[in-house]
Amino acid sequence: MTIPIFASEALAAARAHAAAAAPLEACGLLLGGGGRVTEARACRNVAAEPAVRFEIEPAALLAAHRAARAGGAAVMGCYHSHPSGAARPSPRDAADAAPDGGLWLILGGGDATLWRAGETGAVHGRFDPVPLACEAVPIPPHSALPGSGA
Ligand SMILES: [Zn+2]
Repeated sequence: MTIPIFASEALAAARAHAAAAAPLEACGLLLGGGGRVTEARACRNVAAEPAVRFEIEPAALLAAHRAARAGGAAVMGCYHSHPSGAARPSPRDAADAAPDGGLWLILGGGDATLWRAGETGAVHGRFDPVPLACEAVPIPPHSALPGSGA
């Protein structure tokens, strides 16, 4: 199984959204391709009880899938926050998750964890943990900096 690589901006954006949305759950889509998550796109949480559950606005989900079919970024999964809970899938998350191999980024308690939803899973029979690998910000070599030549 390939470990997806998160662009650091994408993870930072999801964290910032979670902090801004509290005490409600924040949610959004993970977009990218080629094993890289390049964007965490904030979506409206249209759940009836947004403090304890999330539902990504269907129009946003449709638009993302349509854009992907037209050659845009692939929909790799989703993210949401647990404003008063841990960064672990809840039984409700498991019930709501399609076993489609999608990635689930969960933010809670100052932490972020990544999961893959499948037919079987170590957590609630649905989720398997995936290492959360973040891309380091590339630092240009000294030789590329102006004025560094001897
Ligand atoms: Zn949840």
